[in-house]
Amino acid sequence: MPATSIKIENARYIITMDGSRRIIRNGAVVIEGSRIAQVGKSAELASVAAKRVIDADGMVLAPGMVNGHLHVSYAHATRGIFPDSLGPDYLPNVFRLQSAMTADEEYLTSLLGITELLKYGTTTFLDPGSTKFLDAGLRAYEQSGCRVIVGAHVTDIPNPVNLPVYETAEAVAAVERVIRDYDGALDGRVRAWAMPFSPNFATPRLLRESKRLADRHGVSLTLHFNNSASYVQSSLRENGTRPAQYLDSLGVLDQNVVLSHALGLDQSEVETLARTGAKVVAVPTAAVKSGFGMTASPNPPPGPGVNMPGGLLPEMLDAGITVGLGTDAGNNSNLIETNRAMYLIAVLYKDARRSSSAITAETALELATIGGAQSLGLGGETGSIEPGKKADLALYDTRRAEWATLFNPVNSLVYNADGRSVHTVIVDGRVVVQNHTPLFVDEPALIAEVQAIGENLLARTGLSFPQPWPVV
Ligand SMILES: [Zn+2]
Repeated sequence: MPATSIKIENARYIITMDGSRRIIRNGAVVIEGSRIAQVGKSAELASVAAKRVIDADGMVLAPGMVNGHLHVSYAHATRGIFPDSLGPDYLPNVFRLQSAMTADEEYLTSLLGITELLKYGTTTFLDPGSTKFLDAGLRAYEQSGCRVIVGAHVTDIPNPVNLPVYETAEAVAAVERVIRDYDGALDGRVRAWAMPFSPNFATPRLLRESKRLADRHGVSLTLHFNNSASYVQSSLRENGTRPAQYLDSLGVLDQNVVLSHALGLDQSEVETLARTGAKVVAVPTAAVKSGFGMTASPNPPPGPGVNMPGGLLPEMLDAGITVGLGTDAGNNSNLIETNRAMYLIAVLYKDARRSSSAITAETALELATIGGAQSLGLGGETGSIEPGKKADLALYDTRRAEWATLFNPVNSLVYNADGRSVHTVIVDGRVVVQNHTPLFVDEPALIAEVQAIGENLLARTGLSFPQPWPVV
């Protein structure tokens, strides 16, 4: 038997997310090295021996979740500090605070973000280019064992959110440097992409060059694409087209392009995305907390200056667009647990469209797992439990009140469970969480360190955000 083999047996259910979406009752999985070798009934695999056996009695085994949009590296330092009354003004403060952080601080805040992700069952995430010290990030990725996509979120147009503005050539060089230096690191667990921040903070040349670099290096490109009504109006005024058609006219939309948020589209843009094969990451956690109107009427939003872009997720899915889920950062969504984004996406459109079948539990789970992996070009590697795929897995302990009673494991996972029940997590064949405890870090000590980083950061920058209620 291979020295690194693991067998998980007696799982109450395995939600495979394979091509026929089989759910295996009393199932077993055999892992050899970093990959899944066999999947079946425990009885069928009874004779298979392994170095390590995990008894999954009472547990549901599901693919590790995929989070396609999560700024992991800085938010935990001052998470939860911005009062609701700050509105969109929080974002310039976010980047002011981050710009003051050191590499060691970013390492620790990244590690805490990743700890939270892994502990609650997310094994792959995309950091949309905001990690300032990628070598420090790499230490956290190595230590934790996560699967991650990184990049450099460059801009070459002055912007109101305090992002550094590069000369276009410098920005292009930064994009390429990160792809060259990091793509394929840590045995392929790290991928690096082109990540111009957004169409409105990047010149046409930067967008085109970024796409060219993505193609040349065989990677993808991601953009923030959260179209407020005012951006749609300015795109119509300045480019003569809506934002999706503008990107299409630049030759930027393609199968290796992932648009995050994708709010504020109209049906013609949905058709443009579908035709070009561009992918989408829906971020319901950010949308609902920021008041983006993700589920507002698909009719045109009320007018320029009204930040209510609306969302056409059911229409995108009907058009065959590959969609995944993201959570955005720990200081705008505040939560980064993919499970909770999955819950929101399953319920929000039911309410908005007055239909309980608008986005089903099955669709929501697809978006969080195999759909998410496919949106990131990782559908051949992760997102389902099948022989040959990477062993990225989460075991949920169903012997808990929120899982009871259990008849339909998909409904229970989407609607009543959350990350609290995640008992064991495996990434790339390595057990990183066991008995609800991350194995790669002293979690309470890390939390105390990050609290101190946040307090120190506020003292250094002189920023403060009074709370509405007196703290006595
Ligand atoms: Zn973002």
